[in-house]
Amino acid sequence: MIQYDYLIVGSGLFGSVCARELTDAGFKCLVIEKRNHIGGNVYTESIEGINVHKYGAHIFHTDDKNIWNYVNKYAEFNRYTNSPLGLHKNKLYNLPFNMNTFYQLWGVSKPSEAREIIEKQIKEFGFKNPKNLEEQAISLVGKDIYEIFIKGYTEKQWGRSALDLPAFIIKRLPLRFTYDNNYFSDKYQGIPIGGYTPMIENMLKGIEVKTNVDFLSDKKQWIKQTKNIVYTGALDAFYNYQFGVLEYRSLDFNNESINIENYQGNAVVNYLDKNVPYTRIIEHKHFEFGNQKSTYITKEYPKEWQMGDERYYPINDDKNSVLSKLYKDLALKEKSVFFGGRLAEYRYYDMHQVIASALSLVKKLSNDD
Ligand code: FAD
Repeated sequence: MIQYDYLIVGSGLFGSVCARELTDAGFKCLVIEKRNHIGGNVYTESIEGINVHKYGAHIFHTDDKNIWNYVNKYAEFNRYTNSPLGLHKNKLYNLPFNMNTFYQLWGVSKPSEAREIIEKQIKEFGFKNPKNLEEQAISLVGKDIYEIFIKGYTEKQWGRSALDLPAFIIKRLPLRFTYDNNYFSDKYQGIPIGGYTPMIENMLKGIEVKTNVDFLSDKKQWIKQTKNIVYTGALDAFYNYQFGVLEYRSLDFNNESINIENYQGNAVVNYLDKNVPYTRIIEHKHFEFGNQKSTYITKEYPKEWQMGDERYYPINDDKNSVLSKLYKDLALKEKSVFFGGRLAEYRYYDMHQVIASALSLVKKLSNDD
């Protein structure tokens, strides 16, 4: 029997924004979530009073005032500014590449001096038609920056030599010739005070939500109960992998509670050397300027994705583009199933982008009704 206007599969940002907006527009919604908690990958869990980003560090940033106002309806944001550090051979550098980095690297303090070194290296070592990621990166930023900041980190991230990675992975590498360590250049930035989970709880207030429910394990039964579906799970899984499996890069997180107040003095430290197996250490308390007595850190280990692992980064290559297109063509033919979010669209979305995309879907659905 039909009980709902919309069944929303997944309680990540995409599903939660859709549920909120569709409910406010007068539709009856049910959210089902296969994990034992809401929030999808932005989920934070309070451990010893520290809000831990369980699926990787999440820093909210946007240039869009409407999106900023939207999230501020559901959470108060702090003034956190992402200023990561990079460790290479026991030396710390500021990121993103800016005058602090160039001073630490070459001892130069004037923008013109830094520019001169970079331009000279590009001229000397750059390539007219870069054939791989290494050649591309050197052609954009010169040899020193490539070798210290890009090579080891990127090879760990992708599990392959930079010589075997396509040039298009890196389109541009912004260089900043001011002493500005703010990673993002967006106007608005911060972390919801108390973590992302209360923000999602606020979005879903008054809406029926069922966790520990996998839509795909009883698809037919769910379809019978609803007029429409907003599906935010994996696209290939919805179609029972009939054309093949879409690939991802995944991550292992190694968490540690440490009985000291401050472990690394910053939320994000990147480990740039190839021989260190993890890419970053996150110290969660610094996202919220915590002063708890102990601390909690997470080491991130990139890995090949296998069925059963969490899907993190879609693979942007020909094989997966062709495959995802086959599934997307099928999805377009659906009349009452709407696909959205990072998994169902097989694309990388930042949080502000996924919210914008959900709002735009709801607008379309409300107009069509
Ligand atoms: P998800 O959050 O994945 O939500 C989908 C939900 O659907 C999940 O809860 C899943 O369990 C559920 N689901 C799937 N299949 C089923 C099923 N069959 N039945 C029921 N439920 C199902 N963005 C930023 O703006 N800033 C950052 O700093 C940032 N850091 C990131 C770090 C990492 C490591 C990663 C991977 C991403 C990061 N992002 C960041 C991006 C951000 O995570 C995404 O934009 C956002 O989480 C996407 O939301 P979503 O709803 O599309 O997907």
